[in-house]
Amino acid sequence: MLKLFAPRTALRASARSGAPIPAFRPSAFPLTCNAAFRRGYASEAEERDLIVIGGGVAGYVAAIKAGQAGLKVSCIEKRATLGGTCLNVGCIPSKSLLNNTHLYHQILHDTKNRGIVVDGVHMDIAQLMKAKETSVSGLTKGIEFLFKKNNVEWVKGTGAFADEHTVDVNLVEGGERSLRGKNIIVATGSEATPFPGLTIDEEKVITSTGAIALKEVPKKMVVIGGGIIGLEMGSVWSRLGAEVTVVEYLGQIGGPGMDAEVAKATQKLLAKQGMKFKLNTKVTSGDDSSASVKINVEAAKGGKEETLDADVVLVAIGRRPYTAGLGFENIGLEVDERGRLIIDQEYRTKIPHIRVIGDCTFGPMLAHKAEEEAVAAVEYITKGYGHVNYNAIPSVMYTHPEVAWVGQNEQELQKEGVKYKVGTFPFSANSRAKTNLDTEGFVKFLSDAETDRILGVHIVGPNAGEMIAEGTLALEYGASCEDVARTSHAHPTLSEAFKEAAMATYDKAIHF
Ligand SMILES: Cc1cc2nc3c(=O)[nH]c(=O)nc-3n(C[C@H](O)[C@H](O)[C@H](O)COP(=O)(O)OP(=O)(O)OC[C@H]3O[C@@H](n4cnc5c(N)ncnc54)[C@H](O)[C@@H]3O)c2cc1C
Repeated sequence: MLKLFAPRTALRASARSGAPIPAFRPSAFPLTCNAAFRRGYASEAEERDLIVIGGGVAGYVAAIKAGQAGLKVSCIEKRATLGGTCLNVGCIPSKSLLNNTHLYHQILHDTKNRGIVVDGVHMDIAQLMKAKETSVSGLTKGIEFLFKKNNVEWVKGTGAFADEHTVDVNLVEGGERSLRGKNIIVATGSEATPFPGLTIDEEKVITSTGAIALKEVPKKMVVIGGGIIGLEMGSVWSRLGAEVTVVEYLGQIGGPGMDAEVAKATQKLLAKQGMKFKLNTKVTSGDDSSASVKINVEAAKGGKEETLDADVVLVAIGRRPYTAGLGFENIGLEVDERGRLIIDQEYRTKIPHIRVIGDCTFGPMLAHKAEEEAVAAVEYITKGYGHVNYNAIPSVMYTHPEVAWVGQNEQELQKEGVKYKVGTFPFSANSRAKTNLDTEGFVKFLSDAETDRILGVHIVGPNAGEMIAEGTLALEYGASCEDVARTSHAHPTLSEAFKEAAMATYDKAIHF
């Protein structure tokens, strides 16, 4: 009898939260291998060791890993290019726009005191978009190359389960094909959650997909949702001159995973750059029937109503798993109340050879989380073991300054009644930040009060997204703050702020 485990119902899907995942609970419904699992095939010709449905980060990484292990693998992807949300309409295009609009903003506002004289600076939006497309097409073609290199077949089309081992593909070029797999990995990703009453046209009422492709700078933009995607895209258009107002239901920006102190500091810095915020505010309704969009808001707890006018409204209230048309009804697979496919800790559904990874199941909706799961899921198939540490998955917001964190934040530790110590170090006291005239923000460590073991690292400041890798490694290895502080960090680097914040947690920082 093959035992399966309980679904990870306690895991959080809160978009990009990076929050720790609770301990795994023993089986609620042990299953047995059934006859269907052992059935043979009519035609061996179409048989694969592994079929992957979805060629996003989760799917393409799983396919490459399986190809490297010598499995006969096909990856079904319906989009014209590989790489999924991340490469086509997510991480990559948004970071291209964030990087280039930051440069533009810096040239406009931050050159004089550096002795750089610039005149006649203006933005060419069409070229900005072209630069973004160059990055995207280079990277998506790169995945195609890696598929060839690792003997992965890309089946271009939409896959749906015909039975537990058979996936029918509606081919892009027309016609159908049936593939049969010993193992199947579902990696169909996620989609933007719509806002009731507003019709997404990706021009006037947009999701992040529209926000990375606007043809001109809107005069007024309202962002519904002050999470990472809303703030990143709001930043892009604010830097280009839009008057951006972010409406957020919660009392802080950045989502629940962001440390409240960091969120407060970040909000101040973004407000200084021109973004406006309405926290503790809910959008009650919207009207997109005329040229502009009217958004009605009121205090989250009820109160005075207000109407905001916008040329463009960005709906950024989160993402939801995408599993439409997969034909689950044909094989009896279940989703939970949030549309997440139910799996055990080895990513298996109740049909053990069908696994699910990435955004369409539990955990934070992050590309690197999807990638970790892809490697682990294939290792479970090929070796019988795999590993993902959900307590050490970093989150990064690529605004300027960047915000990054890993592990638990202060509000979570307080809620759990954990006794902890705090150590902070400001970039204004760091020699490299001072040299670069880029001194906003700080590094914050949270450690166990008794053992000094690191529980969380939170950074708002220059290069936070790169620096958090050191915090993640420290957390992964169960390091103490003293371990980090006694490790030599090159001078002058921003990472010295990291070391000094660790030092400030159990002792005193030297330079502050
Ligand atoms: C604007 C934006 C910015 C982001 N920035 C970051 C970031 O900076 N860092 C980060 O870590 N994460 C970021 N993310 C999140 C990240 O993009 C996702 O976590 C990641 O793409 C999830 O990968 P996935 O493979 O699970 O799903 P996806 O990337 O969504 O891929 C799923 C793929 O499956 C295909 N598919 C679906 N159904 C079928 C079917 N039936 N047959 C065939 N193909 C199918 C889809 O076409 C799609 O290509 C961002 C997301 C957005 C929207």
